[in-house]
Amino acid sequence: MCALFSAISQADGLKKKPVVYLTFDDGPSSDLVTEMVLNVLAKHDAKATFFVTGARARANPEKIRKIVDAGHAVGNHTYSHSHLTSLFDHEVAKELNETSRYVYAAGGPTMTCFRAPFGNTNQRVNDIAMRMGMHKVGWSIDTRDWDVFVDPEQIAIQLEDSQNGSIVLMHDGPQSRWRTLEVFTRWIEDTAGTYSFEVLPECAHRAETYASVDLPIATGISADVGFVADAYISEAYVSEPMAQNVVADLLPEVAKRPLAVVTAHDDLTLPKLLEKLRSYEISLLPEVVAQNGVKKPAQF
Ligand SMILES: [Zn+2]
Repeated sequence: MCALFSAISQADGLKKKPVVYLTFDDGPSSDLVTEMVLNVLAKHDAKATFFVTGARARANPEKIRKIVDAGHAVGNHTYSHSHLTSLFDHEVAKELNETSRYVYAAGGPTMTCFRAPFGNTNQRVNDIAMRMGMHKVGWSIDTRDWDVFVDPEQIAIQLEDSQNGSIVLMHDGPQSRWRTLEVFTRWIEDTAGTYSFEVLPECAHRAETYASVDLPIATGISADVGFVADAYISEAYVSEPMAQNVVADLLPEVAKRPLAVVTAHDDLTLPKLLEKLRSYEISLLPEVVAQNGVKKPAQF
């Protein structure tokens, strides 16, 4: 009885460790820093969230896979590390959507969070991201590890400020983040067992949100725009084989054209459709963007 009680107490004790959210931006790196960060995290049974750019994901798809396979979360950090607030709505959508597309094409998840480069966001940008299924994430501890004038000891001092709920901002990319790796490795060794490192809840991959990022493309079609390929099937009739047939029928239609507008719906067909369209460039309909938002299709 005593032993059982003791085991429960220890489990309780473990649960009560301060939770810290480690985040790494601007990767995956073109050098080995991302891999080495992953090794350090694995050694300490720590999870983290990687805010990747679309350009880096495109250049390093295998590293996206490694991040995801290790149980970490991936967040959207725009395609080209842009100042989002200075862009038009459709440019904001493109920056986010291109990133989602390359992460997904790399075998990554549908992302459910984004972090604006430079923290440069506002309500308009947040609303666009939200329509694409992504929550805004900031940080509470800025290590300033990117700044060459910041002494490594200063970075370490920032890390030491970690407490329950802290979101720690570091960088594993785009390259030469060896100093970050060194300081972070030392700190996590020194504090081993003190914290519980978890992925940001906003960024946790959830299967039921699988379709959310691409829904603006898939369902944002008004009657005026029309379509050349229709993946729609009434939900009442959706079954697994039928969904496969619908997608199979549609693909030759898409392949025939340099540009195809495809309707899809948030049902069984959508995951299969997105899977099959991985090799295509997918973008928002200009007509829909011009109407400042994503509309439910008028004809259904
Ligand atoms: Zn950044």
